[in-house]
Amino acid sequence: SFHKSKGQHILKNPLLVDTIVQKAGIKSTDVILEIGPGTGNLTKKLLEAGKMVIAVEVDPRMVLELQRRFQGTPLSNRLKVIQGDVLKTELPYFDICVANIPYQISSPLTFKLLSHQPAFRCAIIMFQREFAMRLVAQPGDKLYSRLTVNTQLLARIFHLLKVGKNNFRPPPKVDSSVVRIEPRKPRIEVKQKEWDGFLRICFNRKNKTLGSIFRQKTVLSLLEKNYKTLQALQLSQGLVENKDPDMDFSGLGDSNENGAMEIDNDEVDEELDVEGGDAEGEASEFKDKVLGVLKEGDFEDKRSSKLTLQEFLYLLSLFNKAGIHFS
Ligand code: SAM
Repeated sequence: SFHKSKGQHILKNPLLVDTIVQKAGIKSTDVILEIGPGTGNLTKKLLEAGKMVIAVEVDPRMVLELQRRFQGTPLSNRLKVIQGDVLKTELPYFDICVANIPYQISSPLTFKLLSHQPAFRCAIIMFQREFAMRLVAQPGDKLYSRLTVNTQLLARIFHLLKVGKNNFRPPPKVDSSVVRIEPRKPRIEVKQKEWDGFLRICFNRKNKTLGSIFRQKTVLSLLEKNYKTLQALQLSQGLVENKDPDMDFSGLGDSNENGAMEIDNDEVDEELDVEGGDAEGEASEFKDKVLGVLKEGDFEDKRSSKLTLQEFLYLLSLFNKAGIHFS
């Protein structure tokens, strides 16, 4: 009576359960978060290895079965079951996460875990094979994608174990893999919206050169709109005294209120009109600016499918330094 929608494929191979627990490197002092404990095959071993298991399970029947399984045993004082959808549950503190999850929540769960604070030590998670291979992909690999870069920004990820369908009951349609996710400490700081907008454009056509991606009209007009919005904002705050593209706008947020009062709205509109009137010239000037950034970093002929995380970070910093923004 398993619900397909809840991805209830129970691990039936005890050796595999042992291997997963062993690979997790659990310490006797660890608080373990388990997601989707099901009937508790993994839970039992986790309870034996760590200090405490907090298990989040959405299916009330599974919650009952789990509680029944450990009732009256010494393990039960160290098990806390939270009934609910893990994606809608506020996560408690944990040192380590172990999970055999339903594959449809792979992506949101990964990002939920990686945004959790304080950062945990590691997460050992069973994913659909292809999703796992996306997480661990390197520049040039076929599965290297926006998901790869976004997760590798936040964590280091290692492939631990290939797991065939027949280790589960009922067997799922696809093969699986267990990966180890270690949040980066310290975190790499990016402005989230900026980073996201940038990567969406870069991976929009990941096998094209960046030169051709950033020559697209839609891309250029979006970036130019952002550029002008920021310039107008800075004008209204009296911050723009010259058009030096290397100007540092990092103090922008501080002078918000005071700056805005020094100039009235009419003047700002006038400035904008002047710029708008020269649309064509501006457009190609702006295009040169964008392409100039690509040339400066020697990115024009490179492709997103082959860029390292460091190269993406560097390119974004060059754009931002030139006043070009993605959000
Ligand atoms: N851990 C068990 C094992 O390995 O045998 C069961 C794994 S089974 C693949 C996935 C489990 O996650 C099921 O018990 C299911 O009810 C539960 N589940 C599905 N969606 C969930 C969600 N959004 N939040 C929490 N648990 C969920």
